[in-house]
Amino acid sequence: MITLALSKGRIFDDTLPLLRAAGVEVLEDPEKSRKLILRTSRDDVRVVLVRASDVPTYVQHGGADLGVAGHDVLLEHTHELANGGTGGAVGLYRPVDLGIARCRMSVATRAGFDYAAAARHGARIRVATKYTHIAREHFATKGMHVDLIKLYGSMELAPLTGLADAIVDLVSTGSTLKANHLVEVEHIMDISARLVVNPASLKLKQDRLRALIDAFDAASKGVVA
Ligand code: ATP
Ligand code: MG
Repeated sequence: MITLALSKGRIFDDTLPLLRAAGVEVLEDPEKSRKLILRTSRDDVRVVLVRASDVPTYVQHGGADLGVAGHDVLLEHTHELANGGTGGAVGLYRPVDLGIARCRMSVATRAGFDYAAAARHGARIRVATKYTHIAREHFATKGMHVDLIKLYGSMELAPLTGLADAIVDLVSTGSTLKANHLVEVEHIMDISARLVVNPASLKLKQDRLRALIDAFDAASKGVVA
């Protein structure tokens, strides 16, 4: 059995066409059932639904043979490990950029906040984010002093309530920021989703897994092109 870890939403929706192109049809709709293990048109392939941030953990520890995770999630996960988190060796084989679930990591503030001036004057600003490692590295590179406030969701609320001056969050169309009267003031990096593979699985299930990875790879290039 080959187990593929996906998260509901953007990742699942954007992975489906690649799976289909690789000859794998998912037979159950996660929006219509509460099942966490989904059957596919191939008896030897199944999909497990996990939190986006849990995909690397599942693949690393062999709960899934492969998975699709945002570059944002992978970067944060790698930092967690480096800082003494569980798991030891990273244990994720060669992330393949699938070019799906594209968005960008940005700094956003209230429309009235002069971010450029704060940066120029070396003011200490408060930044709320779920992506503390990416944010820390970004502001350190810029030489800006920030107090990071860790949040797990609804980041847009932080500048509106006075919890923070700025947020670091994912932006795709910008409509969520706009709806909350926030403006994007700095682009940190472009983000897309990657395929990660468990190295032990790759050895044990070499032929079948390799074929699936290659099909994925080819499909993503077709979709992106
Ligand atoms: P969780 O539900 O586990 O807290 P999450 O809310 O970040 O995680 P999703 O919103 O489903 O999970 O996002 C999953 C991935 O989709 C992100 O990690 C990111 O790589 C990608 N993504 C693409 N566009 C966006 C966007 N506009 N907002 C959030 N994530 C996006
Ligand atoms: Mg979510």
